[in-house]
Amino acid sequence: MIAMHGVQKHFGDLHVLRDIELDVPAGQVVIVLGPSGSGKSTLCRTINRLEPVDEGTIAVDGNPLPSEGKALAALRADVGMVFQSFNLFAHKTIRENVMLGPTKVRKAKKEEAEKTAQRLLERVGIANQADKYPAQLSGGQQQRVAIARALAMNPKVMLFDEPTSALDPEMVNEVLDVMTSLAKEGMTMVVVTHEMGFARRAGDRVIFMADGQIVEDTDPETFFTAPKSDRAKDFLGKIL
Ligand code: ADP
Ligand code: MG
Repeated sequence: MIAMHGVQKHFGDLHVLRDIELDVPAGQVVIVLGPSGSGKSTLCRTINRLEPVDEGTIAVDGNPLPSEGKALAALRADVGMVFQSFNLFAHKTIRENVMLGPTKVRKAKKEEAEKTAQRLLERVGIANQADKYPAQLSGGQQQRVAIARALAMNPKVMLFDEPTSALDPEMVNEVLDVMTSLAKEGMTMVVVTHEMGFARRAGDRVIFMADGQIVEDTDPETFFTAPKSDRAKDFLGKIL
């Protein structure tokens, strides 16, 4: 579903992604771990081309990433992304936020988009808030709306970049629960997170990054119980 080969990315003199090789089969849940500044967000952002790469190839579902135009809009719809900050449109209701992508990008009919929004808001447990505005919802609720909004495009892949880092602790689980159910339903997911319990429970695979490189690529159990590199041991020593 995702194929990255020989990917290099610089920001000026800073080499942020070094020779990234990553193949993610359909349905796999990949947890991306690593210290701050190791390139986790940049890696995610290259997969939906929020960041272009300097060298190498990236393909989603067999299609090389387009660089512009309608093809790029279609790619962005296929690759849903949920960020730390929820980025909902403040002046649109929850329902309108979820309907926007399907009507604008997918050219869905209004009634159809409304039905989809209703179904997805039920799925993330906030159908009863559909007519409210984002500021009237808690952070956890807003993040669940952001997930519903991405799902409304019927994506092939979902990228999550620290989706619970900005939330009060009591709201973390309601978001992780939605992500866990998505994982169980077979969504292909790349998840940058510091929630180690979730990583162990829901992850099929752990990618550990340091200085722009994938240093370890293994299953969660092996990563957490028998990390090989000093960088990973050091990282785990600090967080566990
Ligand atoms: P992580 O998500 O693992 O914390 P990032 O991918 O955000 O790491 O950043 C990797 C490195 O690239 C960091 O040193 C960061 O400061 C730098 N960086 C990220 N985005 C930019 C940018 N737009 N311009 C310049 N440097 C950037
Ligand atoms: Mg980051």
